[in-house]
Amino acid sequence: MRIVRYQKKNEPPHYGWILENKVGPIEGDIFGDFHRLEAETPLTDVKLLAPCQPSKIICVGRNYAEHAKEQKAEVSTVPLIFLKPPSSIINPGDTILLPPQSEQIEHEAELVIVIGRRGRNIISEEAKKYIYGYTVGNDVTARDLQKSDGQWTRAKGFDTFCPFGPWIDTDFDASDAIITCKVNGQPRQMASTRDMVFGVNVLIAFISSVMTFEAGDIIFTGTPAGVGPLRAGDSVEVDIEGLCKLVNPVAALK
Ligand code: MG
Repeated sequence: MRIVRYQKKNEPPHYGWILENKVGPIEGDIFGDFHRLEAETPLTDVKLLAPCQPSKIICVGRNYAEHAKEQKAEVSTVPLIFLKPPSSIINPGDTILLPPQSEQIEHEAELVIVIGRRGRNIISEEAKKYIYGYTVGNDVTARDLQKSDGQWTRAKGFDTFCPFGPWIDTDFDASDAIITCKVNGQPRQMASTRDMVFGVNVLIAFISSVMTFEAGDIIFTGTPAGVGPLRAGDSVEVDIEGLCKLVNPVAALK
């Protein structure tokens, strides 16, 4: 099932589900008891929003060996995790704004795990029970500030630096999915999720040994090699084959 949040004209945002090219409302809690109403509104009549509202966004750094190499960094022996603030979230189609503090802002195409229930100290064998589904994300990064600050909060945390969506697929098989990133139609990144250093189940076990997951929390699982600059006027497209495609324009923050 494909789960979305959407807005129809000036109505309040609503959770929904997609059937072919139509969307229907969901009544209740998407992470608990809910029921689906008929999908009768054409997707072209609604704006798709970021598909959930996480209490936290946990990201994994250097989880593809080739990307670690291009950053002249070692792959770590345990997952390297950091947070992006929920205030950095934007919707599919919304504009990534380049802040004046940075001269090197880059895209990072990533598979995103959506957590479905509260959990702590989850063992990797049980991890699947906590996965609600998957979506696509762009871990936008001010690379120069990441290097100069040491701590990554500023480099990863600007407003608009967390586009994800447009939907959560609850049935997706993420074990060998092709991730691509294009800027203005030109290929920049391509790899399979099979190449992740730490797989989905290991990440869930590791992160939940540190912090409690809440339903709706999301995990950015790291980016493959090929990260590169975003400039005002660009259009950046992150695609995971069989899952969904996330497109965002880029502009300078005035
Ligand atoms: Mg990243």
